[in-house]
Amino acid sequence: MSKSVIIIGASHAAAQTCVSLRQGGWDGDVTVIGDEEVLPYHRPPLSKDFLSGQKTIDDILIRPEWAYIDANITMRLGVRVGSINRAEKTVLTDEGEALPYDKLVLTTGARIRRLPIDGQELNNVFYLRDTADVLAIKAKVKTAQTAVIIGGGYIGLETAASLRKQGLDVTLLEAMPRILQRVTAPQLSTFYKRIHVEEGVNIIENIMASKITQDGKALQVTTACEQSFSADMVVIGIGVIPNIELAEMARLAIGNGIEVNPFCQTSDPDIYAAGDVTWHYNPIYDSHIRLESVPNATEQGKIVAAHINGAPKPHNALPWFWSDQFDLKLQIAGLSTGFDDVIIRGDIDGSRSFAAYYFEGEKFIAVDAVNAPRDFMFGKLALTKGAALDKVRIANLDNDLKSCIIKPSN
Ligand SMILES: Cc1cc2nc3c(=O)[nH]c(=O)nc-3n(C[C@H](O)[C@H](O)[C@H](O)COP(=O)(O)OP(=O)(O)OC[C@H]3O[C@@H](n4cnc5c(N)ncnc54)[C@H](O)[C@@H]3O)c2cc1C
Repeated sequence: MSKSVIIIGASHAAAQTCVSLRQGGWDGDVTVIGDEEVLPYHRPPLSKDFLSGQKTIDDILIRPEWAYIDANITMRLGVRVGSINRAEKTVLTDEGEALPYDKLVLTTGARIRRLPIDGQELNNVFYLRDTADVLAIKAKVKTAQTAVIIGGGYIGLETAASLRKQGLDVTLLEAMPRILQRVTAPQLSTFYKRIHVEEGVNIIENIMASKITQDGKALQVTTACEQSFSADMVVIGIGVIPNIELAEMARLAIGNGIEVNPFCQTSDPDIYAAGDVTWHYNPIYDSHIRLESVPNATEQGKIVAAHINGAPKPHNALPWFWSDQFDLKLQIAGLSTGFDDVIIRGDIDGSRSFAAYYFEGEKFIAVDAVNAPRDFMFGKLALTKGAALDKVRIANLDNDLKSCIIKPSN
């Protein structure tokens, strides 16, 4: 009888795993089970080109339908898996169907974190994680004139930029002292605030939304300091929670996500996990991390397929990410967590192009490059090779990037 791989979740990690399995020679069954009705699609455009109407669903599909048919991959869409029976090696769908597996892959990703305040369930209050969310937001944008965004992380800021570009009056409320506080240096937060303000977004920091009420057709967002903001629509973007419940019920090891080894195997060697849901060790940073990033989901999908196909390759990729807001393309290589020094290369106060190099002591740990692809590529390579950078030289745009690498002395 043919061997079978079942992949739960049908998004970035799943789309890569199933195709890599075939490319690596897997000739058994491959079934992808996903609870969304749509074929796997690129999620990043949801808050960017798809929201602003420049791309359609067909434009953002990771692969066209024929590619899965050609590769003999069975797509079960609109189907949710409710439990895993490790003893019998089956998964049980919510429709009551038990499907046998030889190898199981959990690519269940993450879901939005809900804001625990009254009114977040009202009409015209939105979250943004999937195509259905964005289609609902787009329908409202057609008639809305004002929007309040709650949350000044990347998704909140990208959404603010998209709605502003479509002509809405946008106010963004951030609970922390500065936008992007969790992920960037203060200089970057100041820069992004300046650009949003220049583009007409009203950004208010250090302010906590405490309830949303309906006032006729309008919504009122009230804050803990008793301010009130009226809007036709509200979009909340305050982060995500990994979908670990299936793994938890199956008693797999859990950290801040499903724990996996360098080959993306969970504590059950026949069950793998990949993507946003994993808690994995990164040798470059010598720490366990959970990443919310497409490159990580794709890379881990390849690692899973390689291991199942008997050609194991340990995961040791450098994390990277991007964000598009207005005319700004931010590319991030590495993890800036724990930085104690930031060197800015370029004019962060007056221009829209520069790079921020992050250091922990003398160790170069990450770069944020805004409209500066050369800095991104250089930083990515330097981080991958573990190169040391000269802080004084890198700060000066006149110095060629390569000349900023400190040569090891023999
Ligand atoms: C608006 C937005 C913008 C983003 N922008 C960027 C960006 O610019 N750059 C970047 O690198 N990353 C970005 N990200 C993050 C990126 O989209 C995620 O890292 C990526 O989607 C992770 O892929 P995944 O396959 O691990 O999981 P997910 O994309 O979360 O997919 C998991 C899938 O599994 C399904 N599922 C869960 N449980 C079950 C079950 N029991 N049964 C069946 N199906 C199940 C879920 O419904 C979902 O469809 C963005 C995310 C969002 C929402």
